[in-house]
Amino acid sequence: MNNVYAEVITIGDEILYGQTLDTNTHWMGQKLNELGIKIIRKVSIGDDKEEIVSALDEASRRADIILMTGGLGPTKDDITKFTLAAYFGMPLRRNEEALAHITELFASRGRTITPTNEKQADLPLGCTIITNRMGTAPAMWFEREGKVFVSMPGVPYEMKTIMEEEVLPRLKENFSLPVIYHQMIQTVGIGESWLSDKIEAWETSLPSHIRLAYLPSFGNVKLRLTALGDDLELLKAQVMEEVDKVMPLIEEYVFALGDISLEETIGNMLMEKGKTIALAESCSGGYVAHSLTSTAGSSAYFQGALVPYHNKLKEEVLDVKKETLINNGAVSEATVTEMAQNIRKLLQADFGLASSGIAGPGGGTLEKPVGTIWIAVADAHETITQKLTLSKDRMLNIKLTKVALLNLLRKRLKQLA
Ligand code: AMP
Ligand code: MG
Repeated sequence: MNNVYAEVITIGDEILYGQTLDTNTHWMGQKLNELGIKIIRKVSIGDDKEEIVSALDEASRRADIILMTGGLGPTKDDITKFTLAAYFGMPLRRNEEALAHITELFASRGRTITPTNEKQADLPLGCTIITNRMGTAPAMWFEREGKVFVSMPGVPYEMKTIMEEEVLPRLKENFSLPVIYHQMIQTVGIGESWLSDKIEAWETSLPSHIRLAYLPSFGNVKLRLTALGDDLELLKAQVMEEVDKVMPLIEEYVFALGDISLEETIGNMLMEKGKTIALAESCSGGYVAHSLTSTAGSSAYFQGALVPYHNKLKEEVLDVKKETLINNGAVSEATVTEMAQNIRKLLQADFGLASSGIAGPGGGTLEKPVGTIWIAVADAHETITQKLTLSKDRMLNIKLTKVALLNLLRKRLKQLA
């Protein structure tokens, strides 16, 4: 298997000064990785001739593919095109096709072309011009000693269109790329470092052509196995063998194999069992309901939700006992238990889910500091509860509460299987 290496160079003073966040490399990295092209370095430089030249010299020593963005605008600060023309020894020539495209683009916006924009059609003679469907600056493709250099505009949506429609297909044709296979293992309810401790021995024993990545986000850690080789069926079999080895170590935390969300998984489990749910969300403010109903087909199992923020509502609409609230407070196991049981009955669902807590940043006490949250899942047989001790950040607490509550339901559904 041949490794194909790429380097990305983003050009623009604004990137260095922190005025523009370099999102181009981030996106390009994902796309190249999907194709099995190895990104070995990304470099950001200013609109400076010497910097561009030295970045190109260095990159061409390391990489087979050098992708550049930025510096192609019509203004004086943008010098990438002139630098490339000199670097490859190609004079600039008016390109009639490019000029027609720019003229047309201006006309479609009800404007006539200016001399400054006309100059964008002066392009290095001998490179391959790639039309920019979304803007005026075309992309340029150069080849030298088996290496490919592509210069694209910095504007993210222009670059993305050019990459998707032109550059990536051409790279696939020009290079013999490895076959790549990804498999996702989705976990919930365990942090990344605990997870890595549990699977350390397995991880170290992975063959060198199978790599593991931890992709954490709000209480959900995805493990992504990536295999590179020549034979897709063989790679699939080898990856599945590794999945079979690791599963016994982390089974209780795994909610799915593949790219499927926790909400979809819960939805599928409920549909399989023909069960429904209802929510009483205090501290999560409807976020769990929103997340569940963002999944298509959720009407099959989602009965409805109540956000009884005020205690009066907890009492009057949800029938939580006054004594429960007085004796234990709204943020308590007793309250959240009644909330889950009562919403289940009120909305005639199989499962009632509830949350009550101090999302923060204010409102904490010594006994119940910010981030203290109780959650519950009630069904016809029993009610399970959990106390969460989360952070001081309100949105983070809300998001983590959602994941914990859905995970509590998932565990209960598994028990009932
Ligand atoms: P340019 O091709 O240099 O004229 O870039 C045009 C605009 O694209 C800049 O003003 C930035 O707002 C944006 N841009 C340039 N480079 C990047 C980058 N690496 N990531 C995100 N935006 C960029
Ligand atoms: Mg620029």
